[in-house]
Amino acid sequence: MRMPVIFAGHGSPMNAIEDNRWSRGFAALADDLPMPRAILAISAHWWVEGTLLTGDEQPKTIHDFHGFPEALYEISYPAPGAPALAQRVAQLLGSAGAALSTDWGLDHGTWSVLKWMYPEAGVPVVQLSMDRRLAPAEHFAIGQRLAPLRDDGVLVFGSGNIVHNLRDAFQRMRTDHPDTPDWARRYDEAVREALAQHDHDALVAAWPGSEDGRRSHPMPDHWLPLLYCAGASDGGDAVRFPVEGFDWGSLSMRCVRFG
Ligand code: ZN
Repeated sequence: MRMPVIFAGHGSPMNAIEDNRWSRGFAALADDLPMPRAILAISAHWWVEGTLLTGDEQPKTIHDFHGFPEALYEISYPAPGAPALAQRVAQLLGSAGAALSTDWGLDHGTWSVLKWMYPEAGVPVVQLSMDRRLAPAEHFAIGQRLAPLRDDGVLVFGSGNIVHNLRDAFQRMRTDHPDTPDWARRYDEAVREALAQHDHDALVAAWPGSEDGRRSHPMPDHWLPLLYCAGASDGGDAVRFPVEGFDWGSLSMRCVRFG
């Protein structure tokens, strides 16, 4: 059985501990998913120079945020690692030159969502970094090389946000009723349409090729995980959007299921 691919819009780290519309949506992502043998997670928060894979038997829980309540720093997501899977992925990526690393672990892009999907933390997780030196088409090509993992029961899981301009979102969240600007709605909708049509050329060109894309992503870290997920999908996958909407006005929380 071929595993679906999931992209989660993770938003605020607070979604890891709050019972809200988003966290309930994250929990529901796992509801009708076959139980994965392992998870390969591509998080917005591991955007570095190099394509790296967590090689730990027991990856650390990384609290990669500042100024949040103490309860968030006390969270541990003790899912086991899967060094054999990390090796397999490095082989699949071939010339991309992926290497195993024990310097990272599971960051909140990964655990703030998986904590709701698999609260028992029983499914092994490997994280794959995104090389900040690569162009969007190169990230997409790495995603394509991950597709065979789906036939081995591995869940390819990307975590970012389809619209993520924190400076804009922070300004809006300070108001009582944050409104969603037209550019954010347009970009979210254009991406939804490209995904629904399997128009991968449009997706790869969307950032930095459009003004709405550049405004939605002053930095591409939260955009690129979607390209890995789209790369691992194919025209035969039904594309669904189990979570939609905006938090803090302009932060798209859209989640995508392929297959
Ligand atoms: Zn984030």
